[in-house]
Amino acid sequence: MFKWIQQFFKTFLLVELLKGMAVTGRHLFVRKITIQYPEQHTPMSPRFRGLHAQRRYANGEERCIACKLCEAACPAMAIHIESAPREDGTRRTTRYDIDLTKCIFCGYCEEACPVDAIVETHIFAYHGEKRGDLYYTKEMLLAVGDQYEAEIARNKAADAKYR
Ligand code: SF4
Ligand code: SF4
Repeated sequence: MFKWIQQFFKTFLLVELLKGMAVTGRHLFVRKITIQYPEQHTPMSPRFRGLHAQRRYANGEERCIACKLCEAACPAMAIHIESAPREDGTRRTTRYDIDLTKCIFCGYCEEACPVDAIVETHIFAYHGEKRGDLYYTKEMLLAVGDQYEAEIARNKAADAKYR
């Protein structure tokens, strides 16, 4: 009986509603943690592992020396490399593909690379619409590297002291 009366007054006086309003009121003036994406972004670690890129040296020469360490380190077997010697005797890749539908973004390829050629960028907003769109060829990876080299170099420098 007592419980029933208690429940009646609780309902009649809209206690639960007022409790809810109190929670809203308490959070009205505290610091907001919601951001307005895509206009606003949360801070990202220099080690963020997003879309891959192949880098070049400042003189335009591609860094990759076709050692295939990244291919060997990749647990998802997402990297496929073919190589051949050039006329000047140096070895370079003739094919360097990453299947991003297989990639698990572990970063092992980047860790394995002795010349910082293959890297993972801050780019996470990309997609594919048909089969093959996420199959990145050497040309595509170099194009990403060319476009974002300044940012990649900045992040590498920021992270260097922790390696
Ligand atoms: S991030 Fe990991 S899974 Fe993806 S290509 Fe590199 S090594 Fe392979
Ligand atoms: S990207 Fe780096 S690890 Fe992979 S083949 Fe080229 S030089 Fe070797």
